[in-house]
Amino acid sequence: MPPTTSQEIQQQPSSPTEAVANAPEALRPLYTVDGALQPVYEAIVDCPNCILARTRSRTVPGSGPVTAELMFVGEAPGQREDDLGLPFVGRSGQFLDQLLERINLTRRDVYVTNVVKCRPPDNRDPQPDEMAACNDYLEQQIALVNPRVIATLGRFSMARWFPDARISRVHGEGKQVDDRYVIPMYHPAAALRNGSLREVMHTDFAQIPALLQEPR
Ligand code: URA
Repeated sequence: MPPTTSQEIQQQPSSPTEAVANAPEALRPLYTVDGALQPVYEAIVDCPNCILARTRSRTVPGSGPVTAELMFVGEAPGQREDDLGLPFVGRSGQFLDQLLERINLTRRDVYVTNVVKCRPPDNRDPQPDEMAACNDYLEQQIALVNPRVIATLGRFSMARWFPDARISRVHGEGKQVDDRYVIPMYHPAAALRNGSLREVMHTDFAQIPALLQEPR
């Protein structure tokens, strides 16, 4: 039987509470893992399935409640995520928080994860074998959270649902996939590099509330 209570679980076996203790106060709630999600987090924590296991400091399973109606799927953890064991807590994460605020949501309302749960060295792109090694974890997270809407952040997560799509053509357009919507978004880091994409991302995020209201 999976545990049913929420609790802070260790995100790395060698350092039970170190990441939590080092995290800024505002991020602490993001370490809460709902009971239904705990088995998958525990499997990710010491995952040996690809080469990234050799260079990571911490795995980054995800954050947010199992009841979230909105899930974000990014690419892979960066340096700060690797330090803290939480997704999107660096500069991209700050911009994600601003985008959410504009649609009256906070990080505690949404589920956030990545196609790859460990940081690629030097922030290189995740490789096909690394994404394949992590795919089962993402499948489990989607099945457990069962969100109404999945927003992909960047081309690697978009390609998981729309392998032939071009982000410049399809961003901000929610498509029905099974009984949910998947809406491709630019990666927040792209908007940090190219300021003109900031407004585009605000406009794309503004599509999300209506998709969340669609009956299932
Ligand atoms: N970029 C991502 O794609 N994911 C993170 O968790 C952080 C930055």
